Amino acid sequence: MNRIAPFRDYQIFIGGRWCQPASREYFETFDPFLGKPWARIPRCDQRDVDAAVSAARAALEGAEWACMHPTRRGQLLCRFGDLIQQNADRLAAIEVQDNGKLYAEMRTQLGYIPEWFRYFGGLADKIEGAVLPIDKPDMFTYTRHEPVGVVAAITPWNSPLMLATWKLAPALAAGCTVVLKPSEFTSASTLELMRLVEEAGFPAGVINVVTGFGTEVGDALTTHPGIDKIAFTGGENSGRHIGRNAADSFKRLTLELGGKSAQLVFPDADLDNAVKGVVSGIFAATGQTCIAGSRVLVHDSIHDQFLEKFIALASTARMGDPMNSETQVGPITTQPQYQRVLSCITMAHDEGAECVLGGKPATGEECGGGWFIEPTVFVNVSNSMRIAQEEVFGPVLSVIRFQDDEEAYAMANDTHYGLAAGIWTSDHRRAFNGAWRLRAGSVWTNTYRAVSYMAPFGGFKYSGIGRESGQEAIYDYLETKCVWMSYGQNVPNPFVLR
Ligand code: NAD
Repeated sequence: MNRIAPFRDYQIFIGGRWCQPASREYFETFDPFLGKPWARIPRCDQRDVDAAVSAARAALEGAEWACMHPTRRGQLLCRFGDLIQQNADRLAAIEVQDNGKLYAEMRTQLGYIPEWFRYFGGLADKIEGAVLPIDKPDMFTYTRHEPVGVVAAITPWNSPLMLATWKLAPALAAGCTVVLKPSEFTSASTLELMRLVEEAGFPAGVINVVTGFGTEVGDALTTHPGIDKIAFTGGENSGRHIGRNAADSFKRLTLELGGKSAQLVFPDADLDNAVKGVVSGIFAATGQTCIAGSRVLVHDSIHDQFLEKFIALASTARMGDPMNSETQVGPITTQPQYQRVLSCITMAHDEGAECVLGGKPATGEECGGGWFIEPTVFVNVSNSMRIAQEEVFGPVLSVIRFQDDEEAYAMANDTHYGLAAGIWTSDHRRAFNGAWRLRAGSVWTNTYRAVSYMAPFGGFKYSGIGRESGQEAIYDYLETKCVWMSYGQNVPNPFVLR
């Protein structure tokens, strides 16, 4: 797949129109493989946020969307999914150019993203209330589920289209309208997606995009009185800040935050499979995933054997141009993140961990001048070290020994995160027990890094609030209203609770 050329200037999408930001200012977005800018993104501010929220509010209250039959709403979502499918090559290429993920992975993701729109499109006309068998005489009581309102959807740089989809699909199926803010590092693919919003025929203002910096646009959006709900994916500190903003005006809130997920390798595991699973957990997407299995806890009796096999496989990982189908490990997406990963490697050395693979920037010709770091493995790590507790969000694995199952579960849970965990065992009792003992929103046994539109995803503890995907996700975009209708002849004693 080829890079996009020539240099592009993007516009924002508000109320169904492409427009310049009020500031008329733009900033550059970089190709992480080349470490060079390839497009300019509008730098929005409060004025653009005001315009986008007004457009979303008008669409929410306008007859075209508010009175659209849910079956038709669902069909629109399915049509949008079909258009994404038809444009998957182009969208994948833009995503790769902007965030450096492998084209092979992005093309697969773009082939799968339409399923979210089809699944939630199918749910749109199955949002049913209930008639309650109420314990009062002469009363007919029922519930309705109504759209929560205008949603601010904020996404990070590591999977812009997938994470926007996880919010857009249930929000639109529920009848909400959306103002989407992608990361300042990777806004291009979300803006490109808006061409398909137009083509699908969504009423103007149902989906809007503003771009720019978290402290400018993000803050303006999350404090805006016209926003009813915030759906955020990103880092812990931003999540905490946004949670406080939401609390000020009681906005509904879902947070998908970070992780320090453990993979547990028990002595009865199929070691070859475990090695592949741990490699995929930490080196796929260059470790830049919230579910990165960045700690592997290995039973003492198989530690050395596991490590030998692991290093043998990990050291063959081919780094290079993410557009190239042969590449297995691409660049770090942003320069600040590149610096952060290097500083975590220094921190691990300082703490006394021993680096047995990688540990340095990769600068070979195949690395194109971009932000590459070698797949890195530390041993002699104790679970209390910062390298075992803090999210690196890069290709850095900590290997930790355990002596028995109790110690493994205790260490796996001994972090303030709780996003995901992996178990490698051939004993089904251990698999069931582990799934119960691990405090994490997703537990994978003898597999890792599987997600689906049907499967709820989210975190325990500091890893977030709420779930995305799966049927229950739609209720995060709905308010429940209870309607009481009396058919009694007389209103009883007005001074007594009925
Ligand atoms: P980030 O928190 O820096 O930014 C995420 C988004 O929030 C960006 O759009 C940013 O502009 C915006 N933002 C930043 N500060 C803001 C503020 N004060 N108000 C409003 N918006 C603000 O995160 P990142 O560096 O882009 O992404 C990496 C993080 O995302 C990692 O911690 C990772 O674990 C997490 N993540 C979580 C999941 C999940 O599903 N749990 C998925 C992917 C990434």
